[in-house]
Amino acid sequence: MFLKDVIDKFYLDRQKDKEQHHFYITDAGKCSRALFFKFKNVPRKEMDANILRLFDHGDHIHQLIMKPLLSVREIHVVAAEVNIPPQELISGRADAIISDGKNLYVLDIKSMNSMIFSKLIEPKEENVDQIQLYLHYFKIPKGILLYVNKDNQQLKDFMVNYDKKRVFGLLDSLSEVKKRIDNNIIPDRLSDYPSNWQCRYCQFKEICSTAGNGQIEWDDFKKKITLGQNSA
Ligand code: SF4
Repeated sequence: MFLKDVIDKFYLDRQKDKEQHHFYITDAGKCSRALFFKFKNVPRKEMDANILRLFDHGDHIHQLIMKPLLSVREIHVVAAEVNIPPQELISGRADAIISDGKNLYVLDIKSMNSMIFSKLIEPKEENVDQIQLYLHYFKIPKGILLYVNKDNQQLKDFMVNYDKKRVFGLLDSLSEVKKRIDNNIIPDRLSDYPSNWQCRYCQFKEICSTAGNGQIEWDDFKKKITLGQNSA
């Protein structure tokens, strides 16, 4: 019991007050309002320590997958854990850039449970968004999304071709969110709130419901929530 508490605290402390100053590749295609709240460091629902441990477990699975790739002849790992070239808007790190001797591919590894894995017949849209940005910044036309079933280690992979229109759409919408952050305007909710899958897992669900519909001035809303906290 004592050890469980110590380990939980380690994970919970790590997620505290993580202020965000630029976008990550994983933010691509995400709800603008949730991104705004993240940048403004709005208090969010704490994640359970066991979920945070699962993220660490995901990293471990990635290393296991890389092991054979580093040893086989058919594939050459050109670089592992490779950062996109530095620029103002966004940062990110791809799992690897690999080569089959003819072409380069960006490799992005995702792990998931059996239930989600068994239903996967095409790559998840949010993962395609992310790998598209990697392809864009590395100037590599092809990528591979490799999914791992973390319950039994089964694999599925999907080839993704660079889609310039999709990339510019994603970058435009991140620039729009950045403008809202700089101008202190809370963006509107997702059009299919609250049924969108992002709302189900959103750490800002409560504050989003308090804010209500439409775009809102951040300074006014901040006063409202500060008053609410002080009178509680
Ligand atoms: S609850 Fe939904 S609409 Fe509101 S911030 Fe979260 S993801 Fe966005």
